[in-house]
Amino acid sequence: MPKPICDFCSSPDVAFVYPARTFAAYVFDGIVGESVGDWAACPTCHELIESDRQADLVERSLVTLLERQPEMKCAAVELRDRIRSFHVMFFCNREGSAMSIA
Ligand SMILES: [Zn+2]
Repeated sequence: MPKPICDFCSSPDVAFVYPARTFAAYVFDGIVGESVGDWAACPTCHELIESDRQADLVERSLVTLLERQPEMKCAAVELRDRIRSFHVMFFCNREGSAMSIA
């Protein structure tokens, strides 16, 4: 199994896994097609999820994505909407509580 990265912010510091059903989703054309199974989360994103700070989680995902893909900054507003939709789908497809893998 490849070393997972956080599915929210791409941090390599993954400490939790959220069981989730596979669902079809498009964050940005060509970047994410389908969400397959469980989602990994770093301690920071886990904290945001557990405290139900979904808006902060979207901002964190957006900021970290733009750090990796600065050429997408011109599309930040649209990107934020897509990330928000993607997270909503994750919350709809979650199955149970986070499991610690640290
Ligand atoms: Zn994270």
